[in-house]
Amino acid sequence: MTQNGTPATPIFTQCPGCKERRVVSTATHTVVGAEARDSAGVPVYHACPVEAFPFPAGMDRVFHVKGLKATLAPEKRCDGKCANSGAPVCKCSCGGAAHGVGLIPTQITN
Ligand SMILES: [Zn+2]
Ligand SMILES: [Zn+2]
Repeated sequence: MTQNGTPATPIFTQCPGCKERRVVSTATHTVVGAEARDSAGVPVYHACPVEAFPFPAGMDRVFHVKGLKATLAPEKRCDGKCANSGAPVCKCSCGGAAHGVGLIPTQITN
């Protein structure tokens, strides 16, 4: 049923400024409040192009965590769209097991 070695749980994150999505994994990141942080405790940042977005001081350019809302839909076949989706909503035959795993970076480079 599953491929060998079930990957760790994906964490879905989205920039509050530009709405860019990113998927990281509980293997490399932990959830602290509404933020995903790496093993060094550093929040997931990105260079947000939305200069005008009113980020609170010290919170700018942080990806905030969204949990996956999975709905099992046996009639809807799970395909590549599910595995490569960065949206935290899954509605197909995998019940969320494969959702977003294709977007998890295999290697974190700093
Ligand atoms: Zn952004
Ligand atoms: Zn699926």
